[in-house]
Amino acid sequence: MRFDTKTKRTIYDRTRGYCHLCNKKLAFKNYGKSEGRAAWEIDHSNPKANGGTDRLNNLYAACISCNRSKKHSSTRTARAQNGRTRAPLSAEKRQKAVRGNTLVGALVGLLGGAVLGPAAAVAGAGIGAAVGKAIDPDG
Ligand SMILES: [Zn+2]
Repeated sequence: MRFDTKTKRTIYDRTRGYCHLCNKKLAFKNYGKSEGRAAWEIDHSNPKANGGTDRLNNLYAACISCNRSKKHSSTRTARAQNGRTRAPLSAEKRQKAVRGNTLVGALVGLLGGAVLGPAAAVAGAGIGAAVGKAIDPDG
């Protein structure tokens, strides 16, 4: 299956250019160049051998080595071998996740402040937001 540049770009951007299996940064221009640095391929998340389709929602960017060693095993298995459970987030989703974590952190801090008093609320919100921001949204 050949992919045009636009399709490749869409797939690449969905994980911000990171391998969806091991989270290594990939070089867009080295698509399919097994000799190239950070070369990558398009992986069928659900392998075609298992009935996976060529639809975009089944396609992810992966290092050539990850893709080749994954073969017909599932994405879940391949990610687990790298200690991961999810694909890296797109830039848009990542930003939302960071904002969400910050908000949750701030709320936790405010809640602590409600118990401990207003000064603690201000400090707590700040600390909570910082903690929230530090949470890696890619898990
Ligand atoms: Zn990889």
